Amino acid sequence: MYYEEKIINGVLCWRGTPAGEWRECTPQRITIKLVEAQQQSVDSVKQIKDEIRTILDYLDMCSYANFTAEKYDITKRRLRELSAGQQANHEICPVCGSVAVSRNDSTSKYACTHCQWTGKLS
Ligand SMILES: [Zn+2]
Repeated sequence: MYYEEKIINGVLCWRGTPAGEWRECTPQRITIKLVEAQQQSVDSVKQIKDEIRTILDYLDMCSYANFTAEKYDITKRRLRELSAGQQANHEICPVCGSVAVSRNDSTSKYACTHCQWTGKLS
């Protein structure tokens, strides 16, 4: 089935055959197109957000990989020196390696007061 749309003099028009006469689209047709475009826009933003999250998770993973075993041991020792209550909410920052990361209970996200890193720890 042939269907073509074109804007003529600022009005959305359509025709049903390649050489057919251009007719103005109805307000209903234009409304359907508007709603579809809005939904596509929402879907695109969601898709981009998901992709950003994947990239950020990957970067977090890379930070862990770059962390030296020696520095990890030193920080782990410092972590054990904290009280039990402090230990529950503190972890080693994957970026700067300090025991400066505390967890936000409502978001499960950690934030480093030393280097400003924020994110989730796996
Ligand atoms: Zn840090």
